[in-house]
Amino acid sequence: MQKVLISGASVAGPVLAYWLRQYGFRPTVVERTSAGRHGLGGHAVDLFAAAVEITARMGLADRIHEARTRTRWLSMERYGKPPVDVDLDKLSAGLSDQHVEILRGELTSILYDATRAGVDYRFGDSIASLHDDGDGVDVTFEQAPPERFDLVIGADGMHSTVRRLVFGPEQQFRRPLGGYLGVYSLPNSFGLDNRMLTHLSVDRLVGVYGVHQTGQARATFLFRTKEELGDDHRDKERQKQLLRDQFRGHGWKVPQLLEHLDAADDFYFDSITQITLEDWHRGRVALVGDAGFCPGPAVGGGTSLAVVSAYVLAGELAAARSDLLSGLRNYQRQVRDVVQQSRRIGPKLMRSIIPASPTAVRLTPAATAVLIRLPERVQRFVWARSGFGKVLSSVQLPDYRDLVRTP
Ligand SMILES: Cc1cc2nc3c(=O)[nH]c(=O)nc-3n(C[C@H](O)[C@H](O)[C@H](O)COP(=O)(O)OP(=O)(O)OC[C@H]3O[C@@H](n4cnc5c(N)ncnc54)[C@H](O)[C@@H]3O)c2cc1C
Repeated sequence: MQKVLISGASVAGPVLAYWLRQYGFRPTVVERTSAGRHGLGGHAVDLFAAAVEITARMGLADRIHEARTRTRWLSMERYGKPPVDVDLDKLSAGLSDQHVEILRGELTSILYDATRAGVDYRFGDSIASLHDDGDGVDVTFEQAPPERFDLVIGADGMHSTVRRLVFGPEQQFRRPLGGYLGVYSLPNSFGLDNRMLTHLSVDRLVGVYGVHQTGQARATFLFRTKEELGDDHRDKERQKQLLRDQFRGHGWKVPQLLEHLDAADDFYFDSITQITLEDWHRGRVALVGDAGFCPGPAVGGGTSLAVVSAYVLAGELAAARSDLLSGLRNYQRQVRDVVQQSRRIGPKLMRSIIPASPTAVRLTPAATAVLIRLPERVQRFVWARSGFGKVLSSVQLPDYRDLVRTP
């Protein structure tokens, strides 16, 4: 049995492991997070069209539907204007087969449960070095003893270790879109149940929503800057200070939200950056999901792209079986178009969700409110022409069912 090592057990990693196992490979997944913290928390992410279809083919449609976020109302507020309320159920009624919003941690747990029986998961460890000699890859780990694999796949996210070890430093592949994103949990003192409150101002979007699974709330800060603020994604204290500095003097509920920043142990802060690598494999090592082509956190449909690319990678490896390297080439050919299209969405979506001018602050709520009043068929029409809808509805999922070996 061919042995495949996957680094990362969030979205792309477990989807890849699931399908590789179906096709008779032996997947091992190494995940840096400890088993105790795996699948906890995380922000709301989206599964669109093709990704919804793939999770259904994995038999997970009901579980994912059950775990979806229950945010029904979106309240958009601005300085000096009455709030505009949008009924998200109306917006998604016509699209429910094409879109599910779910917390990333919930999705990760569901994917892990679906794969844990047949996959060797190793938590609390990381790849330390890789040596590809053409016939296999010798891997050393930070904790476990060295081991040899037929292939190594980096599914370890935007700041991928596999990419750094094999393709080089992240700096050369970054394309910052000029925005930043901060997210953390806090007590649900606003009594938010199924409502998300947002506040729009020029170059700033702040949101807070209730998380029914934990009883807490989650605050989201998106902002645009003219210059980069520095990119050390591990220095949490410095990042908290940057966030405070950016929102100093901001009104609305921001001072109350920031009161909980110090105590937040799940604080996430990063620049909204794309990874623009053009080749996603080198020898027997390849990248999938955000590690290979992050389209920008929160603005590029990265979760769906992670699911679709992992599914295609597994299928192409199975189809090529005796010639894994040609499987990697075929994978790259298959996903190139959707990756390139999703790269074009991020900058546009960032412009539309973080208003860039007083006019945009004025028009955004009105445009959203109009959309939900449209009949379902018209909503579908608009969806099919919108960024994500267009890109992910146009993906023709290859059918690899004939290649399944295990029941
Ligand atoms: C705040 C925020 C909001 C977002 N909102 C949305 C949204 O609304 N819609 C959407 O579709 N997407 C959204 N995204 C993007 C989405 O989360 C990613 O595109 C998606 O999770 C990518 O999945 P992945 O499996 O490729 O990588 P990731 O989910 O980043 O997972 C990488 C995994 O690798 C592990 N890892 C990292 N380094 C190592 C290592 N050295 N060794 C072993 N394991 C390692 C990590 O612990 C993690 O488990 C958002 C992202 C963020 C940060």
